Amino acid sequence: MGHPTLRQRAKSLQKKDLTKARFKNLLSDMVDTLRDYGGVGLAAPQIDESLRVVIIEIRDTNLRYGVQKLFPLTVFVNPEIELIDSQTAGFWEGCLSIPGMRGYVERPQNISVSFIDELGDFGTLDLHGFPATVLQHELDHLNGVLYVDRMKDLRSLSFEDEWTRHLKEN
Ligand code: ZN
Repeated sequence: MGHPTLRQRAKSLQKKDLTKARFKNLLSDMVDTLRDYGGVGLAAPQIDESLRVVIIEIRDTNLRYGVQKLFPLTVFVNPEIELIDSQTAGFWEGCLSIPGMRGYVERPQNISVSFIDELGDFGTLDLHGFPATVLQHELDHLNGVLYVDRMKDLRSLSFEDEWTRHLKEN
């Protein structure tokens, strides 16, 4: 947080960019970073590449976000979301770019995302619950938005160890 790349609108990719070594290297760096950090999602601007690329992966080894349904590694290039309905729910979000902190954010829970995958194929996916929250958090990164901007009440912003001690529910 504070790095200018995190506050820029990231650039879209073209299909032909996806076959280039630069994109393949970016993807492998993103996967390594996500897994090292034990996170569930990452956007390219978080590793200082202002491009519209997001990955999500929820593994059984993830300990940061409690028990969640598994979500296979999925690459979203140029993702766009549409709300399916207006139902919202809140999660204690964290972010690789704001280490050691958590904040409570409410977001829509039923979304449809259209995107290009890493092979250049067009896809759409309906996401519900936690994965819907994760995708919206990552898509915000592509528009220069951080979760703290989405918090309705900054008083819930917490250091992770205090959050674990006092606020964590499971
Ligand atoms: Zn983040």
